[in-house]
Amino acid sequence: MMMAVPATINAQTESFNYADERFADLQMLRYRVEGFEKLSLQQKTLVYYLSEAALCGRDILWDQNGRYNLRIRQLLETIYTDYTGDRKSKDFQAFTVYLKRVWFSNGIHHHYGCEKFQPGFSEAFLRKAIKSLSTKLPFDTEELFPIIFDPTVMPKRTNQADGEDLVLTSAANYYGSGVTQAEAEAFYQQMKDADPDPAHPIMFGMNSRLVKEDGQLKEKVWRSGGLYGAAIDRIIYWLQRARTVAENDKQAAVIDKLIEYYRTGDLKTFDAYTILWVNDTEGTVDFTNGFTESYGDPLGMKASWEGLANFKDMAATARTEKLSANAQWFEDNSPVDKRFKKENCRGITAKVIVAAILGGDLYPSTAIGINLPNSNWVRAEHGSKSVTIGNLTDAYNKAARGNGFLEEFVVDDTTRTLIEKYGDACDDLHTDLHECLGHGSGKLLPGVDADSLKAYGSTIEEARADLFGLYYVADPKLTELGLTPNDEAYKSQYYTYMMNGLMTQLVRIEPGNDIEEAHMRNRSLIAHWVLEHAQEALQPAVELIQRDGKTFVQINNYAALRHLFGELLAEIQRIKSTGDFEGARQLVEKYGVKVERTLHGEVLQRYKSLNLAPYKGFINPVYVVEKDKDGQITDIRVTYDEAYDHQMLRYSHEYKTLPLIND
Ligand code: ZN
Repeated sequence: MMMAVPATINAQTESFNYADERFADLQMLRYRVEGFEKLSLQQKTLVYYLSEAALCGRDILWDQNGRYNLRIRQLLETIYTDYTGDRKSKDFQAFTVYLKRVWFSNGIHHHYGCEKFQPGFSEAFLRKAIKSLSTKLPFDTEELFPIIFDPTVMPKRTNQADGEDLVLTSAANYYGSGVTQAEAEAFYQQMKDADPDPAHPIMFGMNSRLVKEDGQLKEKVWRSGGLYGAAIDRIIYWLQRARTVAENDKQAAVIDKLIEYYRTGDLKTFDAYTILWVNDTEGTVDFTNGFTESYGDPLGMKASWEGLANFKDMAATARTEKLSANAQWFEDNSPVDKRFKKENCRGITAKVIVAAILGGDLYPSTAIGINLPNSNWVRAEHGSKSVTIGNLTDAYNKAARGNGFLEEFVVDDTTRTLIEKYGDACDDLHTDLHECLGHGSGKLLPGVDADSLKAYGSTIEEARADLFGLYYVADPKLTELGLTPNDEAYKSQYYTYMMNGLMTQLVRIEPGNDIEEAHMRNRSLIAHWVLEHAQEALQPAVELIQRDGKTFVQINNYAALRHLFGELLAEIQRIKSTGDFEGARQLVEKYGVKVERTLHGEVLQRYKSLNLAPYKGFINPVYVVEKDKDGQITDIRVTYDEAYDHQMLRYSHEYKTLPLIND
């Protein structure tokens, strides 16, 4: 029987530029909307309408991030497009970098560190540039100079420094002028105390700015007819369109409830909406749209606006369904003692989605997973949606190819070629095995307390799942199921796993520190245990070698390496099944925690020399709608060639939904 090769195996042979331009501490990337062309026309249309809804809230976020941001954006963009002076001058170049950073951060403060950018151009340059414009800007530009240039004015978007008035000292626009932290806290405490249903609390203050008018505190609610109403009405318009092509009644009800919430601003309605949303799992297309995460509010209540349109990752789903359907075979054939095996093993299907558009606080810098809603009682009583965004993870991986990382750390060209060819696909497969089968395999002996391993429990559990994946990624069964293209693809995973566990994951550890995080401890544990035990053979399956003063992982015998993974899996499963705390402690402490200082220093030095951008973000694709002569949509295509500056300028034009001043 011919076996289908998974699509991802060949993806890297097509030309697609995952890595785009780089400036300051930022690297722009692109992602592919994998599988969009396979959706039905109705689903494509739904994705498109939800994409529009996700882009229409952009101005809200800019204003939330600071009350001068929309004016500053227009000032900078006008100069960028209309400037007639020397565009090659140092000042203009620095101006361009500044604007690109402001675009990236949706405002004048760093998206991650929250500190205000210091422009690399002079005040005199900006004054001259404004004077030279042929169109007059519709606001007082002089007022913006201290906001842009004076480092003491609005220095932090979100200030978390203990002991200061966090509300007064944060530039974020969640509180009106003069509102103090104590006043805001008292205001919301009073609301919470008066809550008639404290077991089901609404997310107090989540969708409003708290202002002081005539000495009185009051909320300006973000809703249709209220603050940000103009943008919200545009969002509602696209949601209404989306409703007409909803996949099923449940999804239509979700959209209806969201519209009702946007109209009323009522937070009980918001909770009702999230409950419907959590239960809507049948459709292919899904979305988030609204005031969601509260990291930008120094008091952690008020939510920044974000939007995401997405659909189920069909390739990942097909993969994990195959694994799940064979779960019992994998359990029966694992190298684990029979006493610790499950008689009835059921795999789970991975929840992976494809992002179709990123908007608001998810653009350009984004999350690679979703775990919502945030309301604790809704999560406890109705559950949550927890998904990973496969095409974004994939884009990060692909963009990293060619950045010099593999050239620096992989031992030879043959191995590197293997990784370039099969690395991503086998990474996905290892994750699938880990998530769908690994965690669900094995059983505790009767009477063993599930918590017996205490603080070592999560490291042991992750090691168990990883080893299950490592053992099986090399199994001919996967080739038989059509999940790996041949019997050597798995070697890419073996090499990168050992390299990561022994060396490269250390780039995330500060000099002098030990490893604390459970996943990192687990990788270190597996790699170091295997390395040590490999030395017992005449020719070690794996070893660390020195060349030109650099350390490399060298694998001499992949089959023997697999055998070692199997041996450790059996031992880890024994520890888990019998609740052997002492065994867990010894393994984790001996192999998982300690960092060899000299090697750590070497790895950090080599990584630093690659000069990689610490932060990354995405340029969105563009949806091209094709219509017949009656205006009916006949097809929608995705294109990927829009430049970063062009996209930002276009968004500022097409999705300009708010006035420049929102008081
Ligand atoms: Zn896990």
